[in-house]
Amino acid sequence: MKLILLGPPGAGKGTQAKRLYDRHKLVQLSTGDMLRAEVASGSALGQEAKRVMEAGQLMPDDIIIGMIAKRIEADDCRNGFVLDGFPRTEGQAKALDKMLGEKGGKIDAVIELVVDEEALIERISGRYACAKCGAGYHDTFQRPKKDGVCDVCGSTEFVRRKDDNAETVKARLVSYREQTAPILPYYRAKGLLHQVDGMADLDDVTTAIDAVLAKVRT
Ligand code: AMP
Repeated sequence: MKLILLGPPGAGKGTQAKRLYDRHKLVQLSTGDMLRAEVASGSALGQEAKRVMEAGQLMPDDIIIGMIAKRIEADDCRNGFVLDGFPRTEGQAKALDKMLGEKGGKIDAVIELVVDEEALIERISGRYACAKCGAGYHDTFQRPKKDGVCDVCGSTEFVRRKDDNAETVKARLVSYREQTAPILPYYRAKGLLHQVDGMADLDDVTTAIDAVLAKVRT
């Protein structure tokens, strides 16, 4: 099963992608995580990515397409994967079809998490993650069971993304509206697009995504 999760920043793509791994062993392929790893490594690509990400802009298509092309070749992707944050432009969407098509593969479903834009700034500015295992939390909506301690691994260190501030989020929303939302009709025309209410409770969103998977599998 090869899935794409689409939706603006803060729609819940990362959270749901992690749940898809837990439930269906679909590997989460997050281009944002890959770029953050480059930033952390201090590579030349990481330095460029840091500048672009903090401005809320998009990295050039060729770099991102190259990263994904290499990643989907890895063994762990054989049972399927969920793309989180890719594709973000029409060029990326077409390149993805081409790279999968060359191996006789294709995307099985595209799930759009539909959310109210007004809610996104609050959602994003409150979010943080465990520094050790990456489990996601939120100041208001998803606090750890014990304050300051990760539910999953017990770590007491947490990190907030640098681009999760109100100003950068506004730029990221503009990028989404202008460059990413226009690819929705591309997938709709292929009959692949499924819409899920991303404003619902986390568990209800997961249930709705599972229902799409069940439908696609039959
Ligand atoms: P994300 O973690 O998906 O919100 O991505 C964080 C940032 O990384 C984005 O705001 C972009 O600057 C960059 N980025 C991630 N994925 C892509 C992509 N597919 N194309 C271009 N830039 C990307």
